[in-house]
Amino acid sequence: MQKQANIVIVGGGAGGMEIATKLGKKVGKKGLAKVTLIDRASYHIWKPLLHEVATGALDTGTDALNYRSHAAGNGYHFQQGAMIGLDRENKQVVLAPINDDNGRELLPERKIDYDYLVIAIGSIANDFGIEGVKEHCVFLDSTEDAMAIRERLLNKFMRYASNDQLEDQIKIAVVGAGATGVEMSAEMHHAVQQLRGFGYKIDASLLDVTLIEADDRILPKVEKPKISESVARELTKIGVNVMTNTRIVKVDKAGLTTDDGTVIPSDMVIWSTGIKAPDFLNNIGGLESNRINQVMVKQNMQTTLDDHIFAIGDCAACPQPNGEWVPPRGQSARQTALMTADNIMLMLKGEAPKHNYVYKDLGSLVNLSKFHTVGNLMSFMGGGVRVEGRIARLVYTSLYRRHLIEIHGVFRGTLLMLAKGIGRIIHPHLKLH
Ligand SMILES: Cc1cc2nc3c(=O)[nH]c(=O)nc-3n(C[C@H](O)[C@H](O)[C@H](O)COP(=O)(O)OP(=O)(O)OC[C@H]3O[C@@H](n4cnc5c(N)ncnc54)[C@H](O)[C@@H]3O)c2cc1C
Repeated sequence: MQKQANIVIVGGGAGGMEIATKLGKKVGKKGLAKVTLIDRASYHIWKPLLHEVATGALDTGTDALNYRSHAAGNGYHFQQGAMIGLDRENKQVVLAPINDDNGRELLPERKIDYDYLVIAIGSIANDFGIEGVKEHCVFLDSTEDAMAIRERLLNKFMRYASNDQLEDQIKIAVVGAGATGVEMSAEMHHAVQQLRGFGYKIDASLLDVTLIEADDRILPKVEKPKISESVARELTKIGVNVMTNTRIVKVDKAGLTTDDGTVIPSDMVIWSTGIKAPDFLNNIGGLESNRINQVMVKQNMQTTLDDHIFAIGDCAACPQPNGEWVPPRGQSARQTALMTADNIMLMLKGEAPKHNYVYKDLGSLVNLSKFHTVGNLMSFMGGGVRVEGRIARLVYTSLYRRHLIEIHGVFRGTLLMLAKGIGRIIHPHLKLH
């Protein structure tokens, strides 16, 4: 009997979850291949929702998906562990040991065999080597990061709320005004409003959020400057201080220092100035990578030096016919995942992977919490159409809806969305613990 091919996917995020589900259903369930998903965490939270986890607007208890139970129902296997290395000669992924809270080893370092490997481990914030960023800033790279921000925010609010003699404002700086920084700034103001609904004596003016951008406008990657202007107006309206043309050169305990020597005092600095792939991916197993550690792939997502290894999503550098690179977005992670599943299925049949990825910018939408949603749709068609308000909000949430349907199927996915909608009506709008 012919040996079953081993397909290993590392990283169960926006891209990895979708490829594992598709391959699990199409080849794993039918016994055509063994599909294994590896993630360092035991549950999946869709990354574009992390800023909501950070402010407590999203409850990880109800929105998290347990990998093991999802794997059991969808024809794939799950192994928890963090990838730390790659042995291409023996076709093995190396996983770090797992320790308990007291540092006792639960599982030793492990090596997992593969015939086909998909690297989908996403990205982390890029500190660009700026002094003090690693030590003094918080990041939105993982659910643990988001929960740590939530705890710090809530602790600060509670301390201030229980003190009749209110001291200074809580000063929060968000560095980097891409979509993540912009959405995080708005979400914090929403959290304060919600806390007041819980009876906390918190005045809106207590929170001083400053959004800092080195470019001359916020959302510099959004093609239409008018969208940046509109979002900046909305942010100012809800009380966010927007600073453009401001380059940070140092972070310390007291706050931020700009290139002209101005000090911006901050109690907490959230760093979101762009991404890089995790450092250990740099030339991992002799594969090619770029200056931000992304693994170099061909347009069919096969790595440039090894046809049995693919990389997708934020950790991959995929060239485009126009000389550009696929941007790190939820949209591209999802699309490259589904296409790579098709290419792997062709290879299982002995055929060449014929699908090549061409990124079409379907649009960029920015959601300012409950305050406003604005963006551009179908950007690849003559500059696209600007949308705002309810329609924009509907389209913004559709990417998550599609993700839920992809990983749960239409029936369960729709039921889940309904349940989440009902949950939002009957449960508190903020998670306080
Ligand atoms: C706050 C926020 C808002 C965003 N909003 C949007 C948006 O509105 N629209 C949009 O298109 N994009 C948005 N993005 C970007 C989007 O989230 C990413 O582009 C997308 O998640 C990338 O998908 P991925 O599968 O490559 O990585 P991820 O979704 O990050 O998944 C990576 C997975 O790999 C796992 N992992 C990491 N390291 C290891 C390791 N060493 N070993 C094993 N497992 C590992 C992680 O636990 C995670 O499950 C947002 C990002 C953030 C942070």
